Amino acid sequence: MQAERARAEGAFHAVGEALIVTDGAHRVRLANPAARSLLGAALTEGRDLREVTQFRATLDRAPFDPSAFWGQPEAAALPEGVTLVTPGGARLVEGALAPVLGPGAGAGWVLVLRDVGPLRARVVAALEEGERRVRDHAETLAHVTRLSTLGEMSAGLAHELNQPLTAIVSHGQAALRLLGDPERDEARVRRSVEATVTQAKRAASVIVHLRTLVRRAPTQTRPVDVNQVLDNVSALMAHEAEQADVDLLTRSSPRPLTVPADPVHLEQVLLNLVRNAVEAARGSPGAGVEVVARREGLHARIEVRDTGPGLADPVRERLFTPFTTTKAGGLGLGLSLSQTLMQGMGGDLRGENAPAGGAVFTVTLPLAVEVGPRA
Ligand code: ADP
Repeated sequence: MQAERARAEGAFHAVGEALIVTDGAHRVRLANPAARSLLGAALTEGRDLREVTQFRATLDRAPFDPSAFWGQPEAAALPEGVTLVTPGGARLVEGALAPVLGPGAGAGWVLVLRDVGPLRARVVAALEEGERRVRDHAETLAHVTRLSTLGEMSAGLAHELNQPLTAIVSHGQAALRLLGDPERDEARVRRSVEATVTQAKRAASVIVHLRTLVRRAPTQTRPVDVNQVLDNVSALMAHEAEQADVDLLTRSSPRPLTVPADPVHLEQVLLNLVRNAVEAARGSPGAGVEVVARREGLHARIEVRDTGPGLADPVRERLFTPFTTTKAGGLGLGLSLSQTLMQGMGGDLRGENAPAGGAVFTVTLPLAVEVGPRA
């Protein structure tokens, strides 16, 4: 009996949890060293334990109700998230109050408290570390996204500006040559300089529009004559087509085709398509590119056909995905930018192989609503 009692006492003293035994009126009868170290000098024999242990709910919990806790007839656990006011400061604790079992049951209580403050601190630290890593990761991601947007934008700019810059250089060189001619033809010099100015304006408008595209600002739509756009594109591409030995044929619609569109965007899209078509048709038998505009139901339809090899298999599925290219110096941005522009105007752009060979790209745009005189 005595040995067993000694063992029980030894265990009572050795456990890490604070154990306090009281009588039926909650007066302290026994406390182990863990309890004394947690509650300090206030924990003296005969003190009312309810006065010594001040529990508080943490901020995110409902207030702690001492009378409900101490007044329960059965064993009751402390609510989760309770702190204990101790001489060393508030500690987060877990615990339970249970009636003492055995002979004379109901004559006393045992309060078990476990200080979980440090554990909570570790969990909080681990969470904070996790959060910090997520934050770092998000920042890296944002940085990479910014970089790739920047890369994409500058690549797009290079693509769009290359054509007018090349034209400026060749018209400028032509003007210089003409100026060096002793019997110079003023009218030809003037034409070359005018062409230089036109191309420089084009380059400037490309920059303005690329900026619009990046900002995803709505396009400036107004009624546009498709036939007029076709004429402009044909004039702008005539020189390039001739250099490539490709016949460029434009067939306007016999009836006026008016669409609500951004004329510069539409011209840019068609220039891209015709330039691609000329590149594809170069060197093919009967090398030619045909641009046809016509009305189809409530839409304007513009087709760009070429006599080239057609769309290569791996490219066909990804034509409008940025950076899809089969060209050594290609950027693969022209078609994706063009489709974005067309969709921004309420239209679309598609590309496929024609049954007779070669590629055909189709631009569609809803026709402007005709407002006729009232009946
Ligand atoms: P890039 O001209 O810089 O390659 P694009 O987006 O304009 O970029 O074109 C993407 C790819 O689509 C081209 O590299 C080419 O493989 C294919 N492609 C475009 N137009 C034609 C065409 N008319 N005939 C054959 N392939 C074409």
